[in-house]
Amino acid sequence: MLLSPAQTRALVVDALHHKYAVLAVNADSPAAVYDVLEAARQCDAPVIIETSLWQLKGRSFGGGDARLGLARYHAEVSLLANHAAFRQVPVVLHTDHIKGPETTAILEAALPIYSSLSLDSSEMTPAENIAAIGKLCANATQQRQPLTLEMEAGVDAGVSPLSDCDTLFAAAEKNHPGYLAWWAPGVGTQHGLGSDGYPTFSAEAVAAHQQRASEVAGRPIGIALHGSSGLPAASLQAAVRSGVAKVNWSSESLLIRSQAAQEYFATHAAQLDKKHKDWKNTAMDNGLQAYVAARYVPKVVERIKLLGGFVAGAAFLAKHGYV
Ligand SMILES: [Zn+2]
Repeated sequence: MLLSPAQTRALVVDALHHKYAVLAVNADSPAAVYDVLEAARQCDAPVIIETSLWQLKGRSFGGGDARLGLARYHAEVSLLANHAAFRQVPVVLHTDHIKGPETTAILEAALPIYSSLSLDSSEMTPAENIAAIGKLCANATQQRQPLTLEMEAGVDAGVSPLSDCDTLFAAAEKNHPGYLAWWAPGVGTQHGLGSDGYPTFSAEAVAAHQQRASEVAGRPIGIALHGSSGLPAASLQAAVRSGVAKVNWSSESLLIRSQAAQEYFATHAAQLDKKHKDWKNTAMDNGLQAYVAARYVPKVVERIKLLGGFVAGAAFLAKHGYV
C-alpha cells in the first residue's frame, strides 16, 4: 500500500528501532517500478520508490513536462501499490533529486500526493536550502497537509562536519518543527559508480549525524545514504548499524537493467529477423522487459536483504493497524 506522510515517518522510526534500512530505488520506467515492487513483495519488505527530475521529464513519464511526469509517476506507483498484488508491501513514493527553477512548483504539486519529499540542494547556498525547505513546510502548515521531508547537505562533498547538522538541519527544524524525518549529510560516498570502494566512507560520521539530528529534533531521525552504488557490502551494513534508514540506489540499478537489455538484443538477433517464427514475441516490449526482470529482480532482492529490510513489511503494517 502507498504510505501517507505520517505512515512514512512511522516507517523511519521502525527501521531505526529494528536496525534495517529501506531501499530507495530510482525506478525510471513503469517496468522498473513493477520490478522493484515485485522484489519487495518477495522479501516481505517495505520499499521506497523515488523519482528525480530526469525521470519526471523522461519519455516514460513527462516527455519534457515535469508536472505531467509527476502526475504519471504518482498514478503508476499508487495504482500498483494499492492493487491487491502489492497491498501488503509498504511503499513510500518520494521525490529525489529535484533542482532548477521549477523545483518549488514541482514539490508543491507533489505535496498532497507523495509520501515524502526532498530536493537537490547541490546548487544552493545553505540559506537557500533552509528557505526552500521552509517554504514547503509553510505551505503544508497553511494547507493543513501532512508532510514528511528529507533534508540534504553536500552529499558529494566528502564527510560533512557535524556543524552542518546545526546550521542546516537544526535551523530548518527550528523554523518548522516536526516535518523532517531523514537527514542526508555527506558521509564520504559519491553519486555514480565509484570503483575504489570509497575508502572515505565513515560509519562514525553516520552515527554522529544520526545522534545529533535526533537530539536536535527530539525524535528519531534516519540518515539517508546517497551514492550507495559503489559501496562494499560490509560498509553498507555498517552504515545501517550506525543509523542509515534509507539507502538510495540509482547508478547500479541502471547498469544492471541496461546491461540486461544489451544482452537481450545481442542474444536475440536471429529472432528479430522478420522471417523468424518468434519475431513478434521477441520484438514486443514484454520480451525485453521479462528478460530484464528475470535478471534485475533477484539483484533488488539481494540488495533489500543486505540492508536487513526483509520480513518487516507485513509486520509493520499489522503493528500499526494500517491493514
Ligand atoms: Zn542522491
